[in-house]
Amino acid sequence: MFSTIKEAIVNMLPGPFVRLFASPYVAGLGMNAGINTAEKLWKEKGIYATLDLLGEAVHTRELVERNVGYYLNLIELIEKRKATDHITISLKLTSLGIHESKAYCIENLEKILSRADQANIPVTIDMEDSPYTDITLDIYKELLSSHPTLGTVLQTRLFRTEKDIQELPPNSRIRLVIGIYKEPPEIAYTEKKIMHERLVEFSKLLLEKGIYTEVGTHNDYSIRKVLDFLQEQKKQGKDYANKVEFQMLLGVPRERIQRIIKHKGYKVRLYVPFAMDWGDGVAYLKRRMIENPNMIGYVLKNLLASRKIQALIGLIGIVALSYLRIYYL
Ligand SMILES: Cc1cc2nc3c(=O)[nH]c(=O)nc-3n(C[C@H](O)[C@H](O)[C@H](O)COP(=O)(O)OP(=O)(O)OC[C@H]3O[C@@H](n4cnc5c(N)ncnc54)[C@H](O)[C@@H]3O)c2cc1C
Repeated sequence: MFSTIKEAIVNMLPGPFVRLFASPYVAGLGMNAGINTAEKLWKEKGIYATLDLLGEAVHTRELVERNVGYYLNLIELIEKRKATDHITISLKLTSLGIHESKAYCIENLEKILSRADQANIPVTIDMEDSPYTDITLDIYKELLSSHPTLGTVLQTRLFRTEKDIQELPPNSRIRLVIGIYKEPPEIAYTEKKIMHERLVEFSKLLLEKGIYTEVGTHNDYSIRKVLDFLQEQKKQGKDYANKVEFQMLLGVPRERIQRIIKHKGYKVRLYVPFAMDWGDGVAYLKRRMIENPNMIGYVLKNLLASRKIQALIGLIGIVALSYLRIYYL
């Protein structure tokens, strides 16, 4: 009942409002917007990027082929801009024909991966909600031997994740996150504290197994615990600097911790989404808001934490007060 009301409210939100909410998190419209943002991060801060084309899950061959075309163009552009050493690509299987069949999805993914391999651009398959966990891991494992830089994502909220780690091929590259999708309590933890503790524990496990580990979180506790582990290991002569990186979402204000991570000698990479069409982008963002209503709270919290917004609110306050004084005195 509550979720239907929530869904109805989010669906009623006007597009421009959703775009305003999303603006810190989305690089903009068009591939150049994505690449320009990534280049700025690299040139100004030495931060790596993974580019993601925003879009709804698609259900027609025409739209799947359009998406494949977009990714092929994106690879070409990254190559032309000579940015293959600091930009990677992230994609979702629901945008590449998984609705139709595993074989069709692999056929589409193969087109992108072959071209990405030629250009030397690693690709990561994002993890979607639990109905897709098995098929995503199957496809990942099937394609890893012919595309050795392929990566995927595991979510610490799922009970199954430790077993999934144990079953990973040793040359895997894994982004570890708590997971954005709300999952039923029969298969997943519901307490964030546990998810974050598992994020630390599983990051260590992945590293100890020799797997390239991408720690995807903004949570200070988890980041600091993983950094402590890395420092301890370094003291004992085991340097993981080439086996680990920390990843965050574009727009989430974490400049301080990003500087600390970089200062300690580890890579920081931001997930940079861009849209080819605002209609797709807005639909996708609404879906994310429904899946994760915290996003609305996050946006407000982050906006309020921004000094520019604080200054603006202060200014509005001063102007409002002066009007009140003029009116009442
Ligand atoms: C690089 C990257 C890739 C990801 N890929 C996937 C994926 O493939 N599949 C998947 O299920 N999930 C993915 N996620 C999302 C992830 O699972 C979490 O939902 C998200 O990162 C929030 O969890 P957290 O660990 O940052 O901790 P939280 O405790 O949720 O957040 C800590 C703080 O970070 C800020 N914050 C977190 N998320 C947001 C947000 N969306 N907007 C604004 N502020 C925010 C808030 O200030 C919050 O208080 C990815 C996350 C990152 C960083």
